[in-house]
Amino acid sequence: MTNQATTYRMTTLGCRTNHAEQREMEAVLEARGLRSVHGSEPAALEVVHTCSVTARAAAKSRQAIRRAARRHDTARPKVIVTGCFVGTDEATATQLAGEQGPGTAIGHASSDGLTMIERFASEVDHWLGETPPPDRSERPTREPLTLPIIELPTRPAHHARAEIRIQDGCDAHCTFCIIPTLRPTLRSKTIPDVVTEARRLVELGHREIVLSGIFIGAYGHPTALRRRQVPATSPTLPDLLDAVAQVDGLERLRISSMEPMDVTDELLDAMVANAEVVVPHLHLPLQSGSDRVLHRMNRQYTVAAYLDMIDRLNESLLTDGLPAAITTDIICGFPGETDEDFQDTVAIARRVGYLHMHVFPFSPRSGTAAARWRDRFVAPGVIRDRVQALIELETDPDEGLAVRYRRQLVGRQVRTIIEQPDHDRPGRWLGRCDHYEQLSVAGELQRGQMVTVQVDRLDGSDTLATITEQTRSLPLLARRTPALEIDP
Ligand code: SF4
Repeated sequence: MTNQATTYRMTTLGCRTNHAEQREMEAVLEARGLRSVHGSEPAALEVVHTCSVTARAAAKSRQAIRRAARRHDTARPKVIVTGCFVGTDEATATQLAGEQGPGTAIGHASSDGLTMIERFASEVDHWLGETPPPDRSERPTREPLTLPIIELPTRPAHHARAEIRIQDGCDAHCTFCIIPTLRPTLRSKTIPDVVTEARRLVELGHREIVLSGIFIGAYGHPTALRRRQVPATSPTLPDLLDAVAQVDGLERLRISSMEPMDVTDELLDAMVANAEVVVPHLHLPLQSGSDRVLHRMNRQYTVAAYLDMIDRLNESLLTDGLPAAITTDIICGFPGETDEDFQDTVAIARRVGYLHMHVFPFSPRSGTAAARWRDRFVAPGVIRDRVQALIELETDPDEGLAVRYRRQLVGRQVRTIIEQPDHDRPGRWLGRCDHYEQLSVAGELQRGQMVTVQVDRLDGSDTLATITEQTRSLPLLARRTPALEIDP
């Protein structure tokens, strides 16, 4: 029988940053002795970490809050709603959180200078009866632009990969994006704090760390606007990469999505210098291959600058003739996008040779500039056709961009971290290689092992490989978790 007073359930919607914040909130709860429940088991505390990036995400967030508030045994749970939906509609979030019992809503914007995670921790302490109600007028004593660690994680790894949120916030105001309204303050974790968190994650058994954030190229900077000068003394992403790559036992370091103009020569040098650990894969949103559209999107680059960056990157990160893996985001049907603009996007996609494209149909997000440009909206049928054309450009089995890149892997030996059994191919395991392609590997394997494999052949959308060398890593759950000693 569960002691319900010590239980929580966390429901998270949305992007990678939300999932990294989920891990931080879980660490706060577990440090206070709460344990998570799953399925229909009632919990004393229901946390719903919301998303509001599209109207559909906001509707799903409302639904998740209602469901959480109604799920109960004898006593109504305390409901805490966090995240972006609170920023767009705080009144509804607060009302839904408190509809059935005690409830609170905590967004990213704050008048007290505290981060959402700090305010979450003080709300939990208050609920547990350990502190008086949070005093919103208190000022933090740390640097206001620092993203602090509230609690270090304690759960042994069940996944090879873990994310560290190194940065939060954006003030770039792309005309389709609501994020600068929801998370306007740029904050970064200090290099020593990121290294401390990385050490802890490695000690817990994680093999790979992904550095994530809203605008990680602005790491250490108070603004994402390239035209503004930043102090020369600010820590930089290359400095951070150098420091984290030295963490003992870390086998793989990946940078999550970053803005194209932040791929500087210094960053490429740091990736090359730490190539033992840092993988040759970057996710670089293109959004459009037309300068006219990029300008109206308020993106901070031109097509020529994007291509110049791709050329520098390909030159630096070439491994034995194999180019780096590049993935991207593209929006189809941005207001005013003509057939010619779209054909420009197709041409750039071909030129870059993406391994994967996340293709989004434009959907107006209320509160953004682009949502007001109704007279230039592209017909839904045209948007659908353009989305389909890009999907085919990537996935065509003979001439698609993905298959062209994947063919270059065949015959090579590549490092792979094993993630899970391949249920479609008994006797095989799925893992991701350094160049981001998912491989189906034959061999006696276990979750979490780092192995070197020979890529044998492509079979439709699957890339088949055979193990050639077991490596240093033990399987995830077999690894002994040492006593955790973290440097101050
Ligand atoms: S850079 Fe643009 S798309 Fe990315 S978070 Fe900032 S405003 Fe949104």
